[in-house]
Amino acid sequence: MADSADGAAIRPPSVDALARSLGPSGLPHPILVEIARDAINDGDIASAPARADAFARRLLTPVVNATGVLLHTNLGRAPVAYSQPARAQSVEFDLTTGERGSRQATAGILLARLCGAEAAMVVNNNAAAVLLVLAALASGRDVPVSRGESVEIGGAFRVPEVIAQSGARLVDVGTTNRTRVGDYAAAIARPGVDAAMILKVHPSNYRVDGFVEETTVAQLATLGVPVVADIGSGLLDADTPWLGGTPPAWLGTEPAARQSLASGASLVTFSGDKLLAGPQAGIIAGDAELVARCATHPLARALRPGGLVMGALQQVTLAYLRRDLDGLPFWKMVATPVGELRARAEAIVARVRDLAGPTGAERLEIIETEAVPGAGSAPGVTMESVGIAVGGDQLAALRSLDPPIIARVRDHRSIIDLRSVLAGDDEVIAVALARIVGVATSTPDTP
Ligand SMILES: *Cc1c(COP(=O)(O)O)cnc(C)c1O
Repeated sequence: MADSADGAAIRPPSVDALARSLGPSGLPHPILVEIARDAINDGDIASAPARADAFARRLLTPVVNATGVLLHTNLGRAPVAYSQPARAQSVEFDLTTGERGSRQATAGILLARLCGAEAAMVVNNNAAAVLLVLAALASGRDVPVSRGESVEIGGAFRVPEVIAQSGARLVDVGTTNRTRVGDYAAAIARPGVDAAMILKVHPSNYRVDGFVEETTVAQLATLGVPVVADIGSGLLDADTPWLGGTPPAWLGTEPAARQSLASGASLVTFSGDKLLAGPQAGIIAGDAELVARCATHPLARALRPGGLVMGALQQVTLAYLRRDLDGLPFWKMVATPVGELRARAEAIVARVRDLAGPTGAERLEIIETEAVPGAGSAPGVTMESVGIAVGGDQLAALRSLDPPIIARVRDHRSIIDLRSVLAGDDEVIAVALARIVGVATSTPDTP
């Protein structure tokens, strides 16, 4: 912790001068000093501006997701707009009584209402939700899991390891491709097995096709042991009442919280930032007594979210109850008719013609694409979409813009998929494409 006076004494003057010359990067001076020192030590002073630029580009920043993967884990999954003033917040304060309240109470009521549960609570993510349920309800006891559901999901969420961490014991049931209700019954009845709950895991981004048999929640619920369903994706209700029509075909057989509870699950766990379309969070919903046991377990304190997340999640749950798609950007994207995407693509190309001239606009092609929900939700399904294609790999150029645009390359073309872009960003896309085709027309073709 050298103070700046000490630092100045041991620092060659050129480090400070070089750091000051990097001021336009907007980075704080102590960071620029470090960058300048590294550049000088490496004998490469000329690289200092590029190093500062690279550092600035590592800061978290809003981007336009034009990948067509709506819930892109590397891009923070569901897009959520949320801000709050620099004021205290009634996180654990009851405004009616003026006494201490619970941060879980209101979120719990709203979420329970949305999925037909007795009670619900919120933790930091779904991995935490599963860990807490296992620790609170099954520590030191046995948890039967189908071998077909003993999976790894996304960033190293591995079912056997989470069970081990919770202090519960995994009991393998059935086979990788077929597990019947009788297999579970036999596992529970085996001498020495003390089944605290059955854990049913939605394999999410993994699918077994062909000679496959899985046991339903309704069948498991007949075995006299609480059934916990980790549905992962956070679809609240298979009937999607917030869309005000028939559920989209791509949802297929994605398990939903309401239907899982109605068919006998004692608890469901799911993510806040997948199909729920909210901030990163994990939700535990179902039987009030079991939720209360989770809420009072010591781990709950370590896994609780702060007021920012609770506020954003509350906003999302209210948007569902109001059927306000503007408050649920993911569902707004999903519900956009493909004809509207095409009309937006045509308007973007027309705008590029204005900005970059007809020769530039001719380099763009409107194409049919297939978007996907992403984040392991509804694996293998696609949604009709529309993209704008431009020749060559333009990904780096698109990323270098402000805001950066994240696209993908297919068949030597860069594709901007409009399914994952909100209409408010169409002008950003048009300006970006005008730049690219403007530059491309004045330089030799990219191979
Ligand atoms: C995504 C997923 C998880 C992990 O959820 P996070 O919110 O990313 O921690 C766990 N279980 C299932 C079934 C999932 O799909």
